[in-house]
Amino acid sequence: MLYYKRFNKIGKLLFIILVFTVCSPNNERISKDIPKEARGKMVKINKTEKEWKEELTKEEYHVLREKGTERAFTGKYHDNKEKGIYYCAACGNPLFKSDAKFDSGTGWPSYYEPISTENVETEKDRSFFMVRTEVHCAKCGGHLGHIFNDGPKPTGLRYCINSVSLKFKPE
Ligand SMILES: [Zn+2]
Repeated sequence: MLYYKRFNKIGKLLFIILVFTVCSPNNERISKDIPKEARGKMVKINKTEKEWKEELTKEEYHVLREKGTERAFTGKYHDNKEKGIYYCAACGNPLFKSDAKFDSGTGWPSYYEPISTENVETEKDRSFFMVRTEVHCAKCGGHLGHIFNDGPKPTGLRYCINSVSLKFKPE
């Protein structure tokens, strides 16, 4: 009886191992067949604050890593009307197209939509006695700015972004 019970336990264990070995290679094969872009998961960059400090300028570090804000009308892109793409200054992730840029009169580059909603992430920001929606790069977590509901059509959104967080490449 005791032997039977032991055998039963070992049998169950073997069955579980068998299920795992049969299923695992299949899952692996399926996930490899799906193109990387379609999997909806951005490969995140995880660097220490020390590494970021070494890579970024003092101003970039303050805005991107410490969620600072550049002074209005002082950034290099608030008035930029060239055609091209705005990338994350920290990791090169494409964030905004010049087509979605509009003159908000705020002194910060403003866009009504990101290049893809997967490339940016949002978070509730309760600093300075306000409830705002913070927006950051989905790849490196670098702070970009805030989103407001007073933007133009078609989205009605205003992505208010620090120039310091962006690197523009003309088309
Ligand atoms: Zn980034």
